[in-house]
Amino acid sequence: MPLYEYFCDKCQKEVTIPMTISEHEKGNAACPECGNRTLKPLVGAFFPKTSRKS
Ligand SMILES: [Zn+2]
Repeated sequence: MPLYEYFCDKCQKEVTIPMTISEHEKGNAACPECGNRTLKPLVGAFFPKTSRKS
């Protein structure tokens, strides 16, 4: 299962969440510590491919 990194505003820290790709696409990410669902995705090494859309 891929890992995704987010920044949690409530915890004020980065969290790493294991999610399936389909869950990620639905935007189901929630902070594992506080349950906050308004996480900011950290775009980085965890993304296997970067497709540019402009
Ligand atoms: Zn949190």
